[in-house]
Order: sequence, then structure tokens, then C-alpha cells
Amino acid sequence: MQERLQELQAEAIGKVEAAADLKELNDIRVAYLGKKGPITEVLRGMGKLSAEERPKIGALANDVREAIAVTLEAKQVQFENEAVAAKLASETIDVTLPGRQVNKGNHHPLTRIIEEIEDLFIGMGYEIAEGPEVEQDYYNFEALNLPKGHPARDMQDSFYITEETLLRTQTSPVQARTMEKHKGKGPVKIICPGKVYRRDNDDATHSHQFTQIEGLVIDENIRMSDLKGTLEVFAKKMFGQDREIRLRPSFFPFTEPSVEMDISCKICGGKGCSVCKGTGWIEILGAGMVHPRVLEMSGFDSKKYSGFAFGMGPERIAMLKYGVDDIRHFYTNDIRFIKQFHRHE
Ligand SMILES: [Zn+2]
Repeated sequence: MQERLQELQAEAIGKVEAAADLKELNDIRVAYLGKKGPITEVLRGMGKLSAEERPKIGALANDVREAIAVTLEAKQVQFENEAVAAKLASETIDVTLPGRQVNKGNHHPLTRIIEEIEDLFIGMGYEIAEGPEVEQDYYNFEALNLPKGHPARDMQDSFYITEETLLRTQTSPVQARTMEKHKGKGPVKIICPGKVYRRDNDDATHSHQFTQIEGLVIDENIRMSDLKGTLEVFAKKMFGQDREIRLRPSFFPFTEPSVEMDISCKICGGKGCSVCKGTGWIEILGAGMVHPRVLEMSGFDSKKYSGFAFGMGPERIAMLKYGVDDIRHFYTNDIRFIKQFHRHE
């Protein structure tokens, strides 16, 4: 019996030494030290022993258990240390390696211009309003005093999707939708930036897709002088404090009276050059007082409320501000072009 115990000890320790991982160690523990293990079995046979031998064998069995447990414990600690060391080794960073170059992007020049204009008007208390690019004919034209068959629709060759839906030709439908939401109650003070689409052949000054920013103010006692003052602040902030503006009469179906705003030419200082086509002035945007019929169609009492609206093309403003000579540069995404507008901040 003594021999059997010593055999078991040697056998178990041999297996522990040969174990490859923690799971194997656990299996050995269960097999040798568990209640159904061989040592327990040996002890069950102790009844056949003499009273002298019993305590000796009992003590030996305990020693054997202890020896196996100590070996198991040591091996387990060894495995755990090895695992930590391996993890550390695998996570070592070689600080002498050169860093990986991260290519930093920059904002598209149009995005910059639009954000600049948005900030300017937000500073004057405007909110930004947005609407769908696939628009209903009603909001794109009819609610803006352009009924079906109106000749001014021809100025805006459209991409129709169905009879009643189209890619919006202007951001004005956002104005119509906003006015409708206000249910005849002022004040309204918004700018609407966004993409618009027209059936145009692309050339240096035309693109079938471009951006617009429109503004709309409706309240009691809004006058033409409010429009002029607003446009003047805008022009000077965008193009420089030394710019002058002038308003020329024009026609738009949704404003009455309508004007176009020019700024004095920076290049020639008003003397006339090729950029301003000899006039000393450069056209920037269209504007006017909201047509009473447009107010009424959107539920505003035109006797109580009045308003002004303006619309501009960020491409044109970016072209003037940065001296870009072809609108297509904004859409061909040549990285060499876009990189020139990198903002160092
Ligand atoms: Zn000029």
C-alpha cells in the first residue's frame, strides 16, 4: 500500500511536470486529488490494515496529497507568469520606428464659404433652415408665385422626376415650407443653404448642380432699408470694409420690388477692368421685398406683415473671393485645387 502511494505520487508529479497548460493541470488535480481518485481509493482499503500500520499509511497519504498539490501550485504559477510575459512581449512598442504619416484633409472651399456666410447671419440672429432636394412642384414654383406655364419657369430648366416632383431648382422652397410652418405668425428670420439642380450644359460659369443660400425675413414694419443695411453688412464682411454696394432694379416673380446687388470692383477700384467688364461693379446677388401674394399664399396677412428675401450663389462668391476662374473646379475634386484652401488652425 505504501508502495502504491509512492507510485501514485511519482506518476502525478511526472504528469504535472509534463503538462502543457492550465487546463491539463486542472485535469490532473481532479484525477489524483478528487474524491474518485486513486489516493482516496487506497485509503478506502485501510480497514484491512493493522492498528499499527493505519496511522502510518494515513500520514503517508497526506504527505503524498500535499506533495502533488505543491507541485501543481508551482506549475500553475509558472504558467501564469509565462502568460504575462508573452502578453508583454507581444505588446512591446518599438519607439525607434518612424511614425505613420496621417493625411489630413481640409474643408472644401465651398463648404468654407457656406460656413462663413452661415456664421455671419447666425451672428445677426438668423436661423438655418433646410429642406428636401427632391421637391414638389408646388413648393419649388407655385407657392413662390410661379404657377404652371409661367414664363419665368423657363429660366430654370428643371430635372423633373414625375409631373409633380423635381430636383429643386432653387432653395426658395425651403422659404415656402418655413412660411407655411409659421402659420401666418411672424417673425421669420432664416437662411437656407443647400444644393440645387438645373438642366444646364456645364461650362466655366454654369454647372448642372450648384449651391445657393437664400435668406428670408418676415416681421411687422420690415422695409427696403432693412434689406439694404443687411446686404451692406454682408458685402463688407465677405469682401472687405472698403467695398461699396449698389442696388439695381431687377425682376423676380416672388419679390416686388426686386433688386440686384453689385459690389465695387476690388481689382480696379471702380475704374473698370476685365473682371468687372469695364463697369467698376460686380454682380453678387438678387434680392427684394417679398411679394404680397407670396405672403398671402403662405398664410401671412400682407397688411400686417412685410419681409425681404435674398439669394446668392456660394460658387460665385468663392470664385470672386479666391480668384477661381472656372466653376467646374469646385466639382471635379482635383486634390491639387482643393489643397490650396487648406486652413492652418
Ligand atoms: Zn474692375
